[in-house]
Parts: sequence; C-alpha cells; structure tokens
Amino acid sequence: MKKIICAGAGHGGLTAAFLLAGSGYDVTVIEAKKRSELGHDWHDCVWLPEFERLGLRADDPGYVMPFFHYTYHNPAQTAAFTVTSNDISNLRMADRRYLLDILIDKCKKCGVKFEFGKKITGAIVEDNRVAGVHTAKKEYRADLVIDAAGIDSPVRKTLPEISGIQREISQDKIIWTYRAYFENKFNKPAPESQNIYFFHCGNPGMDWIITERDFVDVLVGSFVPITDEIIDSALEDFRRIYSHTGERILRGGTVNKIPIGKAIPKFVWNGYAAVGDSCSMAEPMSGSGINRALTAGSILAETVMNTGDEDLSVENLWRYEYDYLKKTGENSYSDAILREFLSGLSPEDLDYFFEHRLLTEKELGSGGVSFSSPAEFFQKAAAFLPKSRLLPGITRALLKLRTAEAVKSALPREYSQNAYAYWLKLYNRL
Ligand SMILES: Cc1cc2nc3c(=O)[nH]c(=O)nc-3n(C[C@H](O)[C@H](O)[C@H](O)COP(=O)(O)OP(=O)(O)OC[C@H]3O[C@@H](n4cnc5c(N)ncnc54)[C@H](O)[C@@H]3O)c2cc1C
Repeated sequence: MKKIICAGAGHGGLTAAFLLAGSGYDVTVIEAKKRSELGHDWHDCVWLPEFERLGLRADDPGYVMPFFHYTYHNPAQTAAFTVTSNDISNLRMADRRYLLDILIDKCKKCGVKFEFGKKITGAIVEDNRVAGVHTAKKEYRADLVIDAAGIDSPVRKTLPEISGIQREISQDKIIWTYRAYFENKFNKPAPESQNIYFFHCGNPGMDWIITERDFVDVLVGSFVPITDEIIDSALEDFRRIYSHTGERILRGGTVNKIPIGKAIPKFVWNGYAAVGDSCSMAEPMSGSGINRALTAGSILAETVMNTGDEDLSVENLWRYEYDYLKKTGENSYSDAILREFLSGLSPEDLDYFFEHRLLTEKELGSGGVSFSSPAEFFQKAAAFLPKSRLLPGITRALLKLRTAEAVKSALPREYSQNAYAYWLKLYNRL
C-alpha cells in the first residue's frame, strides 16, 4: 500500500487525503498547529457546488451566511459602482473553522491519520526524489508528499534546485492582509453590499468593510508588508465613514499573506505534489483559494489512483498539473495579467479609470478577478486614455494576453524535460 504524507492541513491536502484514504492508501496529515487552533477565525467566500461535487455538505446556517454584491470605491472616493451582474447564487460566506471541521471529519471517516502540533522543518530528499518530511525530532517517510502547508511551505522551500520547483514566492506576488471582526455599535442590519476601497488612505492595495448585524468585518489588504500605521489609518477612515464600527475585536485580528500571482510553473516532482497556496493557486477576492485547493486535491487524488503500482515520478504526477491547469487555467492567465496591470496603477490613474468609466462593472464582473474581457478592457483603455505614459504598460499587457494563448496550447500533455522547458519559456513571459 502506498504511503502518503500530507504536509499541513491545507484544504487541497485534506481533500486528496480523504479521497486517497477512502481508496485504501495509507495517509497521514502532519500539521504544525494544534487541532483547536486550526483555521482562520472568520468567514470567507466559497462556491458551494465544488463542496457538493466532493460529497461535502457545507450549508449549515449556523456557520454559513449569504454573499452580497461588492461595491467598489476609487482612491479619491469620488466614484463607486456595485457589481450586480455576476451570479452569486452559489456563493456563501462560510466559517473557516467549520469548513475545516467538515474536511477533517471526512478524512477521519476515511481512515486518515493526523499528527497535530508537529512542525515540519523540511523535505527529505534522497535519490533525486522527495522521500518524506522531517520535523525537528522525527523523520516521516512516504512514497508521496502532498504539500498543503500554505504560502510559506517549508517543504517547497527546501527542495533541491534540480527539482526545477520555484522555492520562493516573490514579494510582489503577495498581498498582506489584516482581518478582524469589530463590534457593530448600533447593531445596524447588513446593507446589501460589501464595500471595497482601492488605495484606501493612499496605501497600495485594497481594503474592505462588510457590515453584518452583529459585527463589522474589516480587511486591510496591502501590496507592501503591512504595518500598524497602515492598519490604523484604514480603521480610522472606516470608523469615520461607518460610525457603527466599534473598537472591540470580536474575532480575528491577525495578519496573513495571500499569493496573488499565477501558479508557480511547476508544482510536481518525483515523490512531490503541491496544492493550494503552497504553489500559489489562489486568486484573491474571487473566493477561489479554497475552491481551487479542493479542485486540485481531487485531481491529484485521481492522478495518484490512476498511477496504480507505478512510481509517483514527475512524469506520472505531471498529469495532475496538466489536468489542473487545463481545468482552471483558461481564464486565470488573462485575469492575472489584468490584475497585475491594475495593481501597478497609481491612485490618480485609478481615479481616472473610475471617473471616466474605463473601469466599470463589466471589467470587475465577478468579484474583481474573473474579468469578463481583459483584452476589451485594454483596448478601451488604450483608445481613451490621454495618459500616454500608461501606453507601454497596456501594450505589454496586450502582448501578454496573446502569449497566454500560446501558453495554453503549448502545455505538454506528457512530461519531458524539453517540452516542459519550451512551455516554461512562454509561461515566464506572462
Ligand atoms: C484575509 C484572507 C481572506 C481570504 N479570503 C478568501 C475567500 O474569500 N475565499 C477563498 O477561497 N480564499 C480566501 N482566502 C485564501 C485562502 O485562505 C487560501 O487560498 C486557502 O486557505 C487555501 O490555502 P491552503 O489550504 O493551501 O493553505 P492554508 O490554508 O494556508 O493551510 C496551510 C496549513 O499548513 C500548516 N502549516 C504551515 N506550515 C507548516 C509546517 N511547517 N508544518 C506543518 N504544517 C504547517 C498551517 O498551519 C495550515 O494549517 C483568504 C485568505 C486570507 C488570509
């Protein structure tokens, strides 16, 4: 029986874990935190059909709230619009700990073993493959290590160069977030919108404030490492605009990182496969981080099962990466290109885009990430923009969109070093 270690109780790892254990694999999850400390202390957006597809029910009204449309505000707060065209009927704000409870219960029912409170320090690499992981005290050996340890995974970071896997997620592909629920001083009922502010208080990034009856959900998102000053100025401004935002923190109050770039180019090697944030699968603000991880975990489990008695080599595990990128990559490259362009704009540029309706509900169609037509947006921006200094950036983005088409078609179905090297060259141009 093949032995699988899941490094970290990330969502994709847990999904692969229960599917594989349910098919007879020997699966152990090694998680740094204690069971009681696991998961973020707030609600996040999830797409229910992906849970249902995996036979998971995540609709307990005690833990799941409706999702409302976003209203976007420009840096000068002179223009705002609400995106109502996107279909939100299957989106919910779900308690993060509740979601992990569901996944862990399922794992336990399928025979997955758990070791909580064990911090992995790195990968064991032998004979040109990952042979397990180690903590400060112990080695854990396996035929496959599923890396579900998030953005700072110690497994990914200790892989050898020969694996071809990018060990660091670059700083400009990260958004730092502070998130807390504050008391709602006046118990005002929830307005049917979630407010998102770009360059709030002059800080490069995006913040949100969502009013619920019992609390006010504040997220401060920064493209540069977040400081107390950034958090304090955002809170002060929100309290000025939304006077019901109290001082007392009810939940959360922590700083975390979210990967905002496209997935790292290679996330499989001999005896190794990464899922979720450990290989940068999330698309911020789209409610995709959790769902993408679930999707990846299920594709990985299927790949492993289809491999049968054969070695879990890079050639065999490549099928997982191929299927994942085919399933999710069609729009995500162009979305990432538009996101990158927008995140490089100055506050004045963004004001211009909002006030002249170059950036509208149409572009921010589905939660600010699944843009309806990036190419159309760039053409419109190029045609109406008097600021010619932005034209080189727009031209670069349009070229990248064209490259994205080539990247999609060049993705090799079977892994070979040459075919991968050719694809990588294109992928790196995005
Ligand atoms: C403020 C905020 C808002 C977000 N909003 C959304 C949203 O609305 N919708 C959405 O889908 N996603 C959202 N995300 C993103 C989402 O959290 C991730 O994309 C999602 O959790 C997938 O990550 P993961 O499961 O791969 O890893 P993680 O959730 O990061 O889990 C990794 C696990 O590995 C463990 N670990 C780390 N290091 C070690 C180690 N050395 N040894 C052992 N274990 C280790 C960690 O303790 C953790 O349990 C948000 C994130 C943040 C921070």
